[in-house]
Amino acid sequence: MLSDTTPTSLQSLSERDKAVIWHPFTQMQTAPLPIPIVRANGSVLYDADGREYLDMIASWWVNLHGHAHPYIAQRVSEQLQVLEHVIFAGFTHQPAVELAERLLKILPLNQSKVFYSDNGSTAVEVALKMAFQYWHNLGLPRFKVVALEGAYHGDTFGAMAVGGRSAFTAPFVPFLFDVAYLPAPIAGQEEAVIEQAKELFTDEIAAFIVEPLVQGSGGMVMYEPGVLNDLFQMARQQGALIIADEVMTGFGRTGKLFATDQLPEKPDLMCLSKGLTGGTMALGVTTCTQAIYDAFLSSDKTKTLFHGHSFTANPVACASALASMDLLLSDETQASIQRITKSHTAFSQRLSVYSTIANIRQCGTLLAFDLTLGEQTSYFNSVRDRAYNFLLDRGVLMRPLGNVLYLMPPYCTTDEQLQYTYTKIEELLNSF
Ligand SMILES: *Cc1c(COP(=O)(O)O)cnc(C)c1O
Repeated sequence: MLSDTTPTSLQSLSERDKAVIWHPFTQMQTAPLPIPIVRANGSVLYDADGREYLDMIASWWVNLHGHAHPYIAQRVSEQLQVLEHVIFAGFTHQPAVELAERLLKILPLNQSKVFYSDNGSTAVEVALKMAFQYWHNLGLPRFKVVALEGAYHGDTFGAMAVGGRSAFTAPFVPFLFDVAYLPAPIAGQEEAVIEQAKELFTDEIAAFIVEPLVQGSGGMVMYEPGVLNDLFQMARQQGALIIADEVMTGFGRTGKLFATDQLPEKPDLMCLSKGLTGGTMALGVTTCTQAIYDAFLSSDKTKTLFHGHSFTANPVACASALASMDLLLSDETQASIQRITKSHTAFSQRLSVYSTIANIRQCGTLLAFDLTLGEQTSYFNSVRDRAYNFLLDRGVLMRPLGNVLYLMPPYCTTDEQLQYTYTKIEELLNSF
């Protein structure tokens, strides 16, 4: 620990940062200086002054097994010394093949091909391009997409287009293709949404895209598998392709390996990223059915999927994903997922006494609730800043979505760390 008077590297790194860096989702004029993190272990981040932060949002939802995990580090470093990267057109490699084989074993049975890209947004772009070109290649073009209000599918243009419209997308609206929206089928709204879906789903719909069971960035909005299954069936009756964006919900967050494991009807396309590599490397995956893949097979070269990124199927990222999968499928991690789920359920009971919160909701390891302090509900809500700073000052990193407070801990988070976090949340609620 450095003393108060020592000129800290904390100060200088933050200031050097400010001179040269533009941060994501950050109003650079008013944002406080960023906190330099010098190392991390398990669920704990350590800053340059030796302060600790419990990473209760898994570093923007990517981390599954804890930071600097020795097993992932070892597998990544082994891969780095053998093959760091190679062009993925005309060439292949062991980590990409093995990862595809192993993913297809744990994904719904109808998924049969894996297309690699770099992140969640690109995984969504690829799914949309596959869907549109599928219809194009069949000679039966369809142009419409149905999505859910409040959806988030990424920040690139196609992904933005199928997301809900908000202050984030306002400057770009003229450039976003039209999408038809259904309200999220939250409890009590199911029948109304089904009625609207009867109108919306026609044989002109190319694809229906959803974040299954939990809309993440839209405020951890949760809904039941039953109604999603009904919507999938309705879309399918019209031949529309179903895209499950499991970029956030994948890899155990909802209690099952994938959110769509909780319903009988299966998607045609799936998007994965975030937890895919355990949060170590950037990697995206789009998977599809045999029927979609087959629609691109032709002696006519114009039917090819003309899409790729320089770092497609990066071997180091694939090695990280393979290591993460070993850990994820271990009995220990599966038990931790159940342990965290149970712990959150018990904490929900404790929360139910507070009149300043509403809509306590849980899906597996995800727990969320709304702060209801009479202020307008929006991302730009000042309650958000107060909650963020209160918790950060006490060593808990949470990043409320507007007035929505949520927990998404790495699976290695201990009971003690969970209890500490719960206590700090209660202190926050008592401070209002
Ligand atoms: C985060 C997210 C994305 C975008 O992923 P990036 O890797 O940030 O581009 C897409 N869909 C969902 C559901 C997400 O939560």
